Amino acid sequence: MKPTLSQIVSESSRLVFFGGAGVSTESGIPDFRSEDGLYRMKYDVPPEVILSSDYFFSHTEEFYRFYRDKMLPLWAEPNAAHKKLAELEAEGKHIDIVTQNIDGLHQKAGSKRVFELHGSIHRNHCLRCGALYDATYIAQSKGIPRCSCGGLIKPDVVLYGEPLDGETVEGALDAISSADTVIVAGTSLTVYPAAGFLNAFRGRHLVLINRDATPIDGRCELVLHGKVGEILSAL
Ligand code: NAD
Repeated sequence: MKPTLSQIVSESSRLVFFGGAGVSTESGIPDFRSEDGLYRMKYDVPPEVILSSDYFFSHTEEFYRFYRDKMLPLWAEPNAAHKKLAELEAEGKHIDIVTQNIDGLHQKAGSKRVFELHGSIHRNHCLRCGALYDATYIAQSKGIPRCSCGGLIKPDVVLYGEPLDGETVEGALDAISSADTVIVAGTSLTVYPAAGFLNAFRGRHLVLINRDATPIDGRCELVLHGKVGEILSAL
């Protein structure tokens, strides 16, 4: 008989939670590819173009108009999924979170071991002097956000066309390759290289929690199609 999610979690000694935008939809933040996701909304320039490094440097003001409007949900609060993961860690479970999200909600819920593959909206730095700025500074800025030295400020978010941060990649791969369980949740697994990280997994239990089918459903020991917050909070 297949084990339940509760059984798998309680017998795991090194657990990785590998998540994507679907982990934050229950906090009110739209994902990219669902029906009401950002990619289905009509823009003159598609979001994947706006969120690219080329566009950032060539159309900085337009980039920031979109970014302030759609990518800075500073009002969002952790949902049941973020809270349950933080609770498990606080209870002593060895759990690493590898997230494609940039919203910082895992840390806001209290998780400490978080690898943000695509960076964070909460860190921003001046491209001239390196000074750091928080997300509120960007949200309240007008036009192109500038440093006190006059330099251009860039979010520490991995834009299309940019490489992932080396240290974060190393940490995430290390966690996945030494885990006995990986729970994949709320991701379409279409963004690379992040989706390919799962190939490093050598452990026993691969679990998928997602509303829609994904390319790895067939590889998983347990597939739960539903809302990640609801499923995790029932643990
Ligand atoms: P995606 O939009 O491609 O896919 C989201 C997946 O989550 C879909 O398969 C959908 O069915 C599923 N889903 C949505 N709500 C769910 C829920 N409540 N429970 C379970 N499943 C749910 O997202 P992705 O694969 O993470 O790739 C998108 C990229 O966009 C990522 O790189 C991420 O950096 C970025 N992004 C981040 C945020 C954020 O930080 N919150 C939001 C949007 C996009």
